[in-house]
Amino acid sequence: MSAEQFRAYGKQVVDWIADYLAGIESYPVRAPVHPGDIRARLPSSAPEHGEPWDRIQADVDRVIMPGVTHWQHPGFFAYFPANASGPAILGELLSAGLGAQGMLWETGPACTELESVVVDWLAELLGLPAWWRTDGPGGGVIQDSASSAALVALVAALWRAGRVDAGRTACTVYVSAQTHSSMAKAARIAGVTTSNLRTVDVDPDTLAMRPEHLEELVAADVAAGAVPTMVCATIGTTSTTAIDPVGALGEVCRRHGVWLHVDAAYAGVAAVCPELRWINDGAAEYADSYVTDPHKWLLTNFDCSVLWVADREPLVEALSILPEYLRNPATDSGEVIDYRDWQVPLGRRFRALKLWMVMRWYGAEGLRSHVRRCVELAGELARLAGSDDGFTVYEHHPFGLVCFRPIWPGTAEAAADEATAELLRRLNDSGAVYLSHTTVAGRTVLRFAVGSPATGSEHVRAAWQRVVAEYRAMRPGVSG
Ligand SMILES: *Cc1c(COP(=O)(O)O)cnc(C)c1O
Repeated sequence: MSAEQFRAYGKQVVDWIADYLAGIESYPVRAPVHPGDIRARLPSSAPEHGEPWDRIQADVDRVIMPGVTHWQHPGFFAYFPANASGPAILGELLSAGLGAQGMLWETGPACTELESVVVDWLAELLGLPAWWRTDGPGGGVIQDSASSAALVALVAALWRAGRVDAGRTACTVYVSAQTHSSMAKAARIAGVTTSNLRTVDVDPDTLAMRPEHLEELVAADVAAGAVPTMVCATIGTTSTTAIDPVGALGEVCRRHGVWLHVDAAYAGVAAVCPELRWINDGAAEYADSYVTDPHKWLLTNFDCSVLWVADREPLVEALSILPEYLRNPATDSGEVIDYRDWQVPLGRRFRALKLWMVMRWYGAEGLRSHVRRCVELAGELARLAGSDDGFTVYEHHPFGLVCFRPIWPGTAEAAADEATAELLRRLNDSGAVYLSHTTVAGRTVLRFAVGSPATGSEHVRAAWQRVVAEYRAMRPGVSG
C-alpha cells in the first residue's frame, strides 16, 4: 500500500468509524447471529491475489457488521463496560502507525518512558501511594488484561516466598467464591495446584471476604506445613461489585508474610473521584500489587490494564531472563526500565499512547465527570426499579452496576429463576438493550451496568420501560 493509497483509504476508514459511532443506535445491541453464521459468509482460504481496498471495506459492512455486538451502544448494560473514545481510538491508530515494539527501553525509549509517566499520573489521579510510582521503589506497568496482571503478581509472590521452580506444591492461594476466575486460572498456570486454592467465606449480606475465616485458613495451612503465598482481595467484584475489607485482610497477610493482590479491575478507576476514594481503604498500607483496567470504565480502548507493585524487585527478579541477543548498554547500565521483565510476553504494544491521549483530552475533570455520570445513572435505574413492587433491588450499588430481580409471586424458586432467565432472553433478543445475569444467594439476578459514554438518562429510562413491559407481558395478571 503506497503512502497515497494509505492516505486515501485511511481517511475513508476514519470517516467510517465516525459514522459508525454517530449512528450506533441504529444497530441491535447484541449481534443477532447464530454460531457459524459469520464463518459461513467467508471463503475457506485466503486469497491468492491481493484485492482492492473497496472490496475489503465493503465486506466489513456485508460480512462483519452483522456479527458485531456493539459495546459502545447506549443500550449496552451487560457485563462491565469496555469503553472506547475518540482520543483512545486515535492513540491506537498512532501506535499501529508507529509499528513500535517496546520490549526493551532500547527498542522503544518513548514507549517505555511515556508508559512510566502515564501510570505515575494515573496513580496520583486515583490517590494511590507515591511509593507505587515508577520513580519510587514500586512502579506501574500496562498489561493486556487484569488476568495477566494477576498471573505476574502471583509469579512475583511465589518468587518472594522463595518458590522459584520447585516447591510450589506447598504454596496456597486464597480467594473467595466472588473472586474473578482469572485468579484461579493464574494459579493453575503458575503451578499452584487446584487443591491449594482456598476459598474464604464471604459475609452472606455484603458478599465481602471474611478476614476471620482467612485467618483460620492461613493458620491451619501454616500448621500443616503449607506456604501461604497470596491472598486476592477484590474491590468491586464482577458479579455484584462487592468490596472486600482490604485493610483487615491485609492485617492477616502482614502477620503471616502473605502477598496481598488487590483486584480492582472494574471499580478501581472510580477513585478518580475523591468521593469514591474510600473504596481503596487499606490498599496503600497493605497491597503488594494492585490492578485496575482503564479499558473497562476509563474511556480507553481495550487493551489497557494497569498493574502497580509496592516493590518492583520480586516482580522483575521473577521475570527477568537475559539472553545474549537482548543485551544492550542501556539495560547493562541498570538505569532504565525494560518492561519485558514486568509481563509474560517479550514483545509489547505502545499502549501508553492511548492512555496519555485520554488523560490529556479529558483531563482529570473529564474523567471524573464520566465516572460520576455513570454512578448517577445507575442510581436513577435503582430508584426506578426500587419504586416498582415487581422487583427486588440489591441495595449495594456504589458504582455503575445495579443488580435486581423480578418477583414471580406464587412461583417456586427454580421456576422463578427460569422466568427471570426468560425475561433476560426476551430483553436481549429485542436488540434494544443488552443486560447480563449472575446468581446471588442461589437466585438468578439481572445485572444492569451503566458505562458507555453514549448512555444518557433517556436510555436508562427507555431500558427500564422495556424491562417493565416485558415483565408485565410475562405476568398478564399484573397491571403496570
Ligand atoms: C473484568 C474483571 C477481571 C478480568 O479483566 P480482564 O482485564 O478482562 O482480564 C478481573 N477481575 C475483575 C474483578 C473483573 O471485573
